[in-house]
Amino acid sequence: MQNYEKFREYTEKGYLCTMNCTSDLRREALALLKKFYGYQAFRPGQFEIIEAVAAGNDVVVLMPTGGGKSLCYQLPAMMKEGCAVVVSPLIALMEDQTSALVANGIPAAAIHSNRDEAANREIIEAAYRGRIKLLYVSPERLLADLDTWVSHLPVSLFAIDEAHCISQWGHDFRPVYTQLSVLKQRFPSVPVMALTATADRLTRDDIITQLGMENPLRWVGSFSRPNLSLRVVQGASKKQRVATVAQMIRRYPNDSGIVYALSRKGAEDMHATLCAQGFRSVVYHAGLSADERARAQRSFTNGDVQVVCATIAFGMGIDKSNIRWVVHNNLPGNIESYYQEIGRAGRDGLPAETVLFYSYQDIIMRRHFIEESGRPLVATEKLDLMQKYAESTICRRRILLSYFGETAECDCGNCDVCLDPPSRFDGTVLAQKAGSAIIRTGQEVGIMTLTDILRGSVRAEIRQKGFDRIKTFGAGRDLPAPAWTAYIGQMIQLGLFEIAFDEANHLKVTPYGMRAIRGEIKVELSTFTPYTHTPRKQVPKEPPTPVDPVQQLFEQLKAVRKAVAAKAQVPAYVVFSDASLLDMAQKRPSSMEEFMKVSGVGERKGVRYGKRFISAIRKFEGMSASMPQGTSVKETLILHNAGVGLGEIAEIKGISVETVRSHIAQLIDEDMVTTFGNYISRTEYEDIARALASDPEGKTLREKYSFGMISLAKAIMAYHQRAK
Ligand code: ADP
Ligand code: ZN
Repeated sequence: MQNYEKFREYTEKGYLCTMNCTSDLRREALALLKKFYGYQAFRPGQFEIIEAVAAGNDVVVLMPTGGGKSLCYQLPAMMKEGCAVVVSPLIALMEDQTSALVANGIPAAAIHSNRDEAANREIIEAAYRGRIKLLYVSPERLLADLDTWVSHLPVSLFAIDEAHCISQWGHDFRPVYTQLSVLKQRFPSVPVMALTATADRLTRDDIITQLGMENPLRWVGSFSRPNLSLRVVQGASKKQRVATVAQMIRRYPNDSGIVYALSRKGAEDMHATLCAQGFRSVVYHAGLSADERARAQRSFTNGDVQVVCATIAFGMGIDKSNIRWVVHNNLPGNIESYYQEIGRAGRDGLPAETVLFYSYQDIIMRRHFIEESGRPLVATEKLDLMQKYAESTICRRRILLSYFGETAECDCGNCDVCLDPPSRFDGTVLAQKAGSAIIRTGQEVGIMTLTDILRGSVRAEIRQKGFDRIKTFGAGRDLPAPAWTAYIGQMIQLGLFEIAFDEANHLKVTPYGMRAIRGEIKVELSTFTPYTHTPRKQVPKEPPTPVDPVQQLFEQLKAVRKAVAAKAQVPAYVVFSDASLLDMAQKRPSSMEEFMKVSGVGERKGVRYGKRFISAIRKFEGMSASMPQGTSVKETLILHNAGVGLGEIAEIKGISVETVRSHIAQLIDEDMVTTFGNYISRTEYEDIARALASDPEGKTLREKYSFGMISLAKAIMAYHQRAK
């Protein structure tokens, strides 16, 4: 709430949206973007969405994680009268969002059950009085309170985050969301915005119907995230998986990553293994208490741990921009989930790595889950597509983009297929060996047993069933087991065999497969390469070495950020994102004026944190740590515009209030400053003005007023003269 006064002052000066025409709106929106967020330009779609809401329209926003959805409702909320209500499913998410907004000087708050009701009441009161521009609330709470405070609130906009939860077609259906349809009925004239990172066409249409939106703008942003490297590894052993995770942690020792597992046990296992190796890890899954989960999430967002081992329960609403890597220990159930989960890495736009480990066991497990749940058909189709992605031999990003309805013009160059294209060979003989082994067992073996038969393993089960006596037993000894598993997988994809999920996952030879066995068709396979931890052709950079000055400064700035964040008791990314720090390390601002030009430095943050960062940079450059004393009148102007008071300006700049007054006098002369209340009181001004009328030299005044005060009064008099 402390942001309100300054926010109001700013918007009342006439910047508040007049919404006369697009160019006015754009200018005003850009001014807010620069002032409060420190960004120079909108990302694709952001302005179009703002414009639609300004015109009173409903909007559906589909943008990938990290695409910049929050701004789409935050800016209209700032520009419109009243209070925007943001529906958000998680308390942790609400808290993160509001603290980020408050850090930028935007009045925002959240209503939730983790806070006592008196505090909630106070927030609601403030919202009534128009002192809060964004109010975050859970769907349950909003619906429960519809007839009480909500009905009296001057709502400017309803923003529904994670809107895919409304649809049964989506992958994260939450029944309570369906009741949000009441909003359009109760508040027909208030625009509704639905935002999601994951929605196929069916889900998108469903969102619109369920919310009763009227002819909404549908914005489908680009899902391309070129900074995420994509890698899929089939059939890696547990040891290899752990080694990969360990390598990621070592590669980014000061950042963090996520390992996703299919089951709670899988997450616990990985966590235990990593802890045993001395890494700082936490575990997160739905089996923990709400308290334990909140604690795990906190230590992750605060950067206290290097890795979180989690099930899919983790992550929705993780607004941490410097996650550098995501490893999937198992195949996700569908492409939307996968893309959302890897999308949590690299939200700052800097390079981030993703690895997906995949085995046939995963498919079987997933199938099992799906059959147990009630919606087999859609889910099975989605799983099939996920599997196709994992087994693809063409650029993976192309597959992802086409899934979201985009076409990529060329290969991405940042996935394992592009970096290390598979070579092909004639695999007809292999297919014949595998196929005839399946037939000779009476088509009653799964992938594992088939591999064992081909490799000539004398496991008890194989001997019992007499599989060691069939003709193809041991016919594939020359290939290692992972290679056979991979090739059998390819053969399934090619349609030679099928997995009978309803018959203990046994393999069946298709008619097409029969033709291969009879030698009527040729089978082409792509060469299996044994797994190594790093892609062979592009070995990513090892931990930043201190030779690169930008990297070096970047690391130092991170340390400053950590200290600043600890003192302010906010997560580090609330202070500045990595992208901002990197820009800072590149631009190396040594004055306040330059500092304000760094991306992500709005006025509030510039004023609050500038000094700490600038002195670190100046030290790095071998300059004296303090900024040149009062050299720049412009810096005073920046602070003035940010609503900083006289004493605070002097303190931030390390100059006397007298000097600040003389700066302001100079700025008034140049018509740069037109509000003076902070620097001189009305009585003081009138007293000086009266005395100057009879004594233009102001000799008598010197005893009573300082030089700075007198020159300020003179400047104001001249200003009024000009104004006449
Ligand atoms: P989403 O909600 O879509 O996952 P966010 O709204 O959290 O994404 O935005 C991701 C990151 O991009 C944030 O750090 C945000 O500050 C930044 N961002 C958003 N819009 C812009 C912009 N126009 N210019 C620069 N950075 C932006
Ligand atoms: Zn590619």
